[in-house]
Amino acid sequence: AKVYKFEKQFQGVPKETDLKLVEEELPPIKDGEFLCEAVFLSVDPYMRAYAPRLSLGTTMIGLQVAKILESKNPKFPVGKHVVGDFGWRTHTVSNGVTKGQIDHYVFSDFGKLPLSYGVGILGMPGNTAYFGFLELCQPKAGETVVVSGAAGAVGSIVGQIAKIKGCKVIGIAGSDEKGKWLTEELNFDHFINYKTQNVFKTLKQVAPKGVDCYFDNVGGEISSMVLNSMNLYGRISVCGAVSGYNDTSVPKASIVQYPMTFQQLKMEGFMVYRWSDRWSEGIEQNRKWIEEGKLKTQETVTVGFENMFKAFTEMLDGKNTGKAVVKV
Ligand code: NDP
Repeated sequence: AKVYKFEKQFQGVPKETDLKLVEEELPPIKDGEFLCEAVFLSVDPYMRAYAPRLSLGTTMIGLQVAKILESKNPKFPVGKHVVGDFGWRTHTVSNGVTKGQIDHYVFSDFGKLPLSYGVGILGMPGNTAYFGFLELCQPKAGETVVVSGAAGAVGSIVGQIAKIKGCKVIGIAGSDEKGKWLTEELNFDHFINYKTQNVFKTLKQVAPKGVDCYFDNVGGEISSMVLNSMNLYGRISVCGAVSGYNDTSVPKASIVQYPMTFQQLKMEGFMVYRWSDRWSEGIEQNRKWIEEGKLKTQETVTVGFENMFKAFTEMLDGKNTGKAVVKV
């Protein structure tokens, strides 16, 4: 197997030398185990965010869709595909149980839908959008919803679910091309380019009645401006803080108490695995919406396992639209 090991703690923007690509000999499989080969690997912002907790020398973390090549476990038959947090590696021997929160599971290919969806819209990012938005924001028809990181894997799904629920949706992302996709293809009502527009001032124009729900993927200045545009009893689902993951400076003071108090807001963070007992519900609902034409996705595919690092840093840099994946 080819494996990426975590060699050196990231300082600011990750460097290729922080990881090391090595060859590993795999043992023959025992009863209860299977051998699988990566087909699609995911690159996600959490890999950067969790890095300070990783010990050096371990396999770089991540989910993948892999094909089962050999099996001595009836739950994982040869030829089927499995979704697992095997990390950045081409081949894995597993017994299907993980140290993480979701056991490895066979990914039903859902008819003609691409296998890569197992690490995207029909996997962890899809469920992050489904549960993180619906459970914490409790959106009602007619409300105004703002999503940051809107053209990414999670954000693009959140905005579409908000449209399905009858909300007015405003997406914030980093390029006009992404904005075009959001408004023209995904039906978002408005788009704000945080690199060229002032988020606070633009929200006053596109959301004159204020913001009821905010799904926060980025944190930082963008989020402060949205928070100060919220309505009474607004709800904020805190999903991530990608604007700060590569930032090594001391966190800047950001006063959330003012809007939190005066608008009586409810702000809650979450980890998607809170809903691990309802995992298949999110996948099934998102699949249904795809089939009904209500949910669309896009993928930015990098080809070649040896390009994992490139795909990872390009995603952090905003080169992806929709889900960033690597095809082996
Ligand atoms: P994305 O597909 O959204 O990719 C990351 C995006 O972040 C880039 O495309 C880029 O888009 C944006 N970005 C990068 N730097 C900045 C910045 N300085 N300011 C604003 N935006 C920036 O990733 P995901 O959809 O996989 O993840 C989105 C968020 O959700 C992350 O914060 C992640 O950690 C979090 N997450 C949380 C989970 C949970 O359980 N809580 C589970 C899964 C994800 P742009 O061009 O717009 O800048």
